[in-house]
Amino acid sequence: MSRRFIRVRPPLRQRLRPGRLPFRPRRRRGGKLRLLIGAAIALFAIVSFFGSRQYNPVTGEKQFVALAPHQEIALGLQAAPQMIRQHGGLDPGDQRQRLVDAVGMRLVERSAAARTEWQYEFHLLADTQTINAFALPGGQCFITAALFDRLETEGQLAGVLGHEIGHVVARHGAQKMAKSKLTQGLTGAVLVATDSAESTLLTQMIAQMVNMKYGRDDELQSDELGVRFMADAGYDPRAMLAVMRILAEASSGSRPPEFFSTHPNPDNRLARIERAIGEVFPGGVPAGLEP
Ligand SMILES: [Zn+2]
Repeated sequence: MSRRFIRVRPPLRQRLRPGRLPFRPRRRRGGKLRLLIGAAIALFAIVSFFGSRQYNPVTGEKQFVALAPHQEIALGLQAAPQMIRQHGGLDPGDQRQRLVDAVGMRLVERSAAARTEWQYEFHLLADTQTINAFALPGGQCFITAALFDRLETEGQLAGVLGHEIGHVVARHGAQKMAKSKLTQGLTGAVLVATDSAESTLLTQMIAQMVNMKYGRDDELQSDELGVRFMADAGYDPRAMLAVMRILAEASSGSRPPEFFSTHPNPDNRLARIERAIGEVFPGGVPAGLEP
């Protein structure tokens, strides 16, 4: 066998090293091309961000969202098992889980949330250490056993779940992703322009979604939506104030609620909830609502 058949070829990158190319690389032209591609990617990121404007009939806002509703639902479903694993699985108590389902579905079915296309599911997590509740885009809502066990009434559970349904309906996750997609598009453009682009966009987006933290305005809006949904479903919205009190009391313990790190706690949060209740019931909260 002649030697040239067994010769191992050097890796592609080495073979394409400028020194090995049969012609002189035209570096200035390549740099210009990269700049053009970078500019095109930046333009695409900006155009797709501002082209993604959609009207939200529940909040009455025009918002920038990166995903179609079916994609949003699919991403939430995809991330849900990871969230469940992170919190020690689902709570084994069938009756407790049924109560979470019943309260969640009552809120959805009797409020404006019923007219949305989200696929709501409510999960009671086995975690007895972390006091928290959260929602993924598309309708997956979670509450930990640690928070569930501190609640005293069905109305308080409705307060927690109503707040999370608020995040879903207001599409806070998708809006956050649209913003980070714009940022990443622009970062990607810079990387291409400097010749080292690598696309891990979807991985990054999912990772971000799993550790999602919303801004202060998103939290206040979810409180207000939660109050609306509670009132529509026949729950006394003042139970939302009790939830805040329970969380504040728990925060003086050895392990403060995770809820306060994922949910910033501005001083005026209670006042804003009271104002929202006043807007829903201008003549005062009627008697006979579920406390
Ligand atoms: Zn929240």
